[in-house]
Amino acid sequence: MKRLLIFTLGALLAVVESIAQEQTVSAQDSVATSESVAPILTNRVESPIVVDTLATDTPLMSVLLLNDGTWRYIENGVIEQDSTLFASYWDNDEISVYKDVQMSSLPKSVPIRLVDTTAIYRYPHRGRITSRYGIRHRRNHNGIDIALKVGDTICAAFNGKVRFSKCTNTGYGTLIIIRHDNGLETYHGHLSKRLVEENERVVAGQPIALGGNSGRSTGPHLHFECRYMGQSFDPERLFNFKTGELRRDKFLLRRAYFSIYSKYEQDFNAEEESYAAEKRENAASAERRYYRVRSGDYLGRIAKRNHTTVSAICRLNGIKPNTVLQIGRVLRVK
Ligand SMILES: [Zn+2]
Repeated sequence: MKRLLIFTLGALLAVVESIAQEQTVSAQDSVATSESVAPILTNRVESPIVVDTLATDTPLMSVLLLNDGTWRYIENGVIEQDSTLFASYWDNDEISVYKDVQMSSLPKSVPIRLVDTTAIYRYPHRGRITSRYGIRHRRNHNGIDIALKVGDTICAAFNGKVRFSKCTNTGYGTLIIIRHDNGLETYHGHLSKRLVEENERVVAGQPIALGGNSGRSTGPHLHFECRYMGQSFDPERLFNFKTGELRRDKFLLRRAYFSIYSKYEQDFNAEEESYAAEKRENAASAERRYYRVRSGDYLGRIAKRNHTTVSAICRLNGIKPNTVLQIGRVLRVK
């Protein structure tokens, strides 16, 4: 299964590359022979054009291939993953790279795909929580502390790329930051030994460091943070640290969660209800079917063609069996 997925991803990248090359070649050719392509080239710099859409195994989810060689992973029209993720705001020497990103400029909510057919999850380190997310001794505690013994293995939670791996003289001590394919960054502080270097690809479950007591730490523990565009949120929203399980496959990250006072325990019920509502909505929209009226169509034929009844179509569209159908009108049939 895993091998197949790797192959699929490799094939996809090969397609992207070949399309990028084709685009470059044809653009140059066109420039030499005709001036009419000039506006397209301008457009290409400003916003890449979609050259192909690939279906995935997940319903309502697809991959857009763009003419600049990049791709976007979208679900229900929402961008979930972007191949420029590891190119922008990428700095190996700075802990905070998103300083100029205003919180108000972030979307009100962002769907984060945690696991699917191409991405897996592994618990970073299993242990007792010794300090939660929130205010602690009048300071912001932007992550969670997990007890460990010096030398315990810390693993990458999701697939990603190491953005930062250094011994620092900050409170973090020895720190590793991984930017994951799902857009999140995880911080691992107070380490005793680093096992990965900057710009290295890591897979979920790969040992990245050994735990320790470096930096501002009163005893061996892992300080673990989850961030999106530099903003931290309670890691307990993603992980159940007691069982080591991920709470859900897909996480709807709300801007409100970036407050240091916003904790998972407080809005547990509200969060669960909003997920249930979203699930119902998705199920309903996945079942919906539409039909465009063609010349010679009448309700009976449309119903038969779509394995439904005239009265069901009338009910869904608020029409009567004798309503005159305009060619081109779109009717909901399911
Ligand atoms: Zn901590």
